[in-house]
Amino acid sequence: MSSVFLTIPRAESMRFIYVLFVLLVQIPTQASSSKVDSLLNAIAHLQKQGSNQLLIETHLKLGKVLSSKSEEKYEQSIHHYDIAAKIALDEENYPSAATAIFLSGVSHKRTNNFQKALEKFYQVIEFEEGMIDPLEKARAYTQISAIYQALGNYEKAFEQQMQGLIIFEVKEDSLGIANSHYNIGTIFFYQLQYEKALESYQKAKELCDALNIEYNIYSCLAALGAVHAKLELQEESLDYNLRSLELAEKLNYKTGIAYAKGNIGSNLVTQKNYIKAEAFYKEAIQLKTEFGDTYSAIGNKVEIAQLYLEWGKAKEAKRYLEEALISAKELDSRGRQSDIYKNLALVYDQLNQPLIAYKYNKRYVSIKDSLLNEKTLEEMGQSKRRFDVQKSEHEIQMLKKGNELLAKNEEIRTQQIYLFAITSFAFLMFILWNRNKLNYQNKVNKLLEEKNQLLNSKNDEIHIKNKQLELSNEDLQQFAYVASHDLKEPLRMINSYTQLLKRRYSASFDDAGNEFMHYIVDAVGRMEILLNDILDFSRAGSQNLPTTFIDTNDVLFMVESNLRHRLEMLKATLIIKNKNLPLIKAHRTQLLQLLQNLVSNGMKFKGERDPIVEIDAQPSANGYVFSVKDNGIGISKENLEKVFEMFRRLHTREEYEGTGIGLATCKRIVATWGGDIWVESEEGQGSTFFFSVPNVALQPSHSSEMEIAPVG
Ligand code: ADP
Repeated sequence: MSSVFLTIPRAESMRFIYVLFVLLVQIPTQASSSKVDSLLNAIAHLQKQGSNQLLIETHLKLGKVLSSKSEEKYEQSIHHYDIAAKIALDEENYPSAATAIFLSGVSHKRTNNFQKALEKFYQVIEFEEGMIDPLEKARAYTQISAIYQALGNYEKAFEQQMQGLIIFEVKEDSLGIANSHYNIGTIFFYQLQYEKALESYQKAKELCDALNIEYNIYSCLAALGAVHAKLELQEESLDYNLRSLELAEKLNYKTGIAYAKGNIGSNLVTQKNYIKAEAFYKEAIQLKTEFGDTYSAIGNKVEIAQLYLEWGKAKEAKRYLEEALISAKELDSRGRQSDIYKNLALVYDQLNQPLIAYKYNKRYVSIKDSLLNEKTLEEMGQSKRRFDVQKSEHEIQMLKKGNELLAKNEEIRTQQIYLFAITSFAFLMFILWNRNKLNYQNKVNKLLEEKNQLLNSKNDEIHIKNKQLELSNEDLQQFAYVASHDLKEPLRMINSYTQLLKRRYSASFDDAGNEFMHYIVDAVGRMEILLNDILDFSRAGSQNLPTTFIDTNDVLFMVESNLRHRLEMLKATLIIKNKNLPLIKAHRTQLLQLLQNLVSNGMKFKGERDPIVEIDAQPSANGYVFSVKDNGIGISKENLEKVFEMFRRLHTREEYEGTGIGLATCKRIVATWGGDIWVESEEGQGSTFFFSVPNVALQPSHSSEMEIAPVG
C-alpha cells in the first residue's frame, strides 16, 4: 500500500478541512450562564426604558455568548440576532442590522441549516452600497463560499470567494485576505488540485503568521499537513501535523487536537508504524465522539479498520466497522456506508467467509453506483448548462466589463475636465472681484473637496473593476480547466458504455433505436473534442510552462507525422519553404499545437482544389515572422480579426467541423512569448496566417525548398 492517507475517503478529508475553515472564521470563546442571565436581565430592563440602540447591542452580545457556548444554544442565539436585526431595520440602523443578520447566518450555518444561512448572507450582500461596511459584505461572501463548498458546488464557492477577496484586498484587510486564501486553498483541495491548494494555504499561513493569531496558524498548519499528504510528501505532512498538534495542545483546543491526532495516525500508517498509529486513531475517535463530531469519528473508525486489515487483525477491524456502520446509518450518510461496506467485504475475505464478503461487496457496489449516477447526472446537467451559456456569457461579460471600464474612464476624464474648468472659473472670479475673499475661497475649497471626493470614489470604483477583471480572467481560466478536466472522466464512462451497448445490443434495436444510438455516439465524440479544445485553450494561457530553445524543424516533422493520415486522405501537400528555420524559445507542446492548428485549418478549409499548405519563416526587424499559407476558401475582410475570437466560427458544423477554439488558442500561445498573430486573405483566394517570434536563435544548416507529403 503506497499511501494509506490517500485511501482516506475523500469526504473525510473534506470534512476535516471544512471544520477547520469554520474555526478559522470564528473562534469559540467560553461563556458562563451568569453572563447569559445578566444580559437577559439587561434586555428586560432596556425594553421597559425603550432604549433601542442599547437593546440592539445587548441582543447581539447575548447572541454571541449563546453561540459561543455549545451547539444547543445556536437556536437561541439566532432568536436574539433576529430580534436585533428587526429593531435595527425598524430604526434604519443598517450597519447594526447587517451585523445581526450576518451573525444569524453564522449560527444557522453551525446548525447545518445551509438554506437559511444562505438567505441571511445574501441579505447582507443585498444592502445598497454605502449603507453598510463593505467588509461586512466581504465576510458574507466568504461565508456563502464556505456553504457552497460544503454543498460541493465548487464553482460557485470559488466565484463568491473571489468577490470577497476583491473587497478585502481593496480595503487591505489582512485577516480577510488570509481567510480568503485559506478558503480558496480548500476549494482547490476538493478539486484535487493539490499544488494550487498548497500555494493558497502557504499564502494564508504567511499572512496568519504576520497577524500572529494562533488559532488561525493552527488551521493553516493542519491544512498544510493534509495537502502535503495528498502530494505524497509524507515527511513534510507529518511535520506540519505534529506542529499543529503541538499548537492545539498549547491552546488546549480540543477539536484541533482530535483532528491533528487523526491525521498523524494516517501519517504513521504510511510509515507502517501500526502500534503508534492505532493509539493516535483511538485518541482521535474518543475526542471526536466526546464532542459529537460523529461524521468525522466514523472516518477515523474506517481508517483504523483499514490499519487492522493491513496488520492482519480482521476481527478488530470488524468491530470498528460494525460500530461505524450503526453511526453512518443514523446519520444517513450513504458515502460513509459505502466505505464501510467495502471494508467489511475485505474483512470477511480475510476471515475466509467469501459468501458474506460477496454480500457486502454487492451492497458497496450498489450504493457506489447510485452515488455515481447521481453525481454523473448532476455533472452532465451542469456541463450542458455551462456549454450552453459559456459562449454567450463569457463574451458578453468580458465585453460588458471592458465597456464599463471604458465608460468609467471616459466619465472620469470628463469629470476631470469639468473639475479643471470649474476650478479655473472659480479662480478667475476670485481674482476679478477680489471681494469677499474668504467667502469665495471657502466656496472654491468646498467645491474642490466635493469634486476630489467624487474623483476618489470613482478611482476606487475603477480599481475594484480592474481587480474584478483581472480576477475574473484568472477565475474563468481556472474553471475552464477544472471543469473540462473533470468532465472528461464521466464522459469517458458514457462513451465506453454506449460503445458497449452498441456492440452488444444493436442487433436487437430497431432502426429508430440505432439512429438514436448514433446520435449519442456522435454527440459524445463532439463533446470530447470540445473538452480537449477547452483544456488546450486554458493550458495555453499558463505563463508557468517551462520554455527552452526548440528546433522548429523537429516540431514541423512531428506536425507532419501527426497529420500524415489526414494529408493523405485529403490529397494535401505540405511544403516547407525554408529549411533553415530558427530555434524558438517556447514550450514544445505549445509550439507543436500552434503549427498543427494552423496547418490543419489550411487543409480543412479547402475549396475545390486539393489543399496545398506552405510554411515559411523570414527574419524581421525583431526576430522572425512565420507564415502558413493555403489555397483554400479564404476569409472575408470583415472577418479577418474575428476568427481569433473564442468560439467564433464562420461556417456551420455541417460545412466544416470544429469548435472555434483553435485560433483563440494559437493567439494565446503566441502571446505567451510576446508575439503577434494575424491573417491576410481574400475570399476564394486562400489565406496566409502569420505569427511573429521575438525570441529566436539561428542554427547553421541550410537547404532549399523541401517537400514532405506527396500529392495523392
Ligand atoms: P475551428 O477550426 O475549430 O472552427 P478555429 O478557431 O481554428 O476553429 O477557426 C475559427 C474559424 O476561422 C473557422 O471556423 C473558420 O471559419 C476560420 N478559419 C480558420 N482558419 C481558416 C483558413 N485557413 N481558411 C479559411 N477560414 C479559416
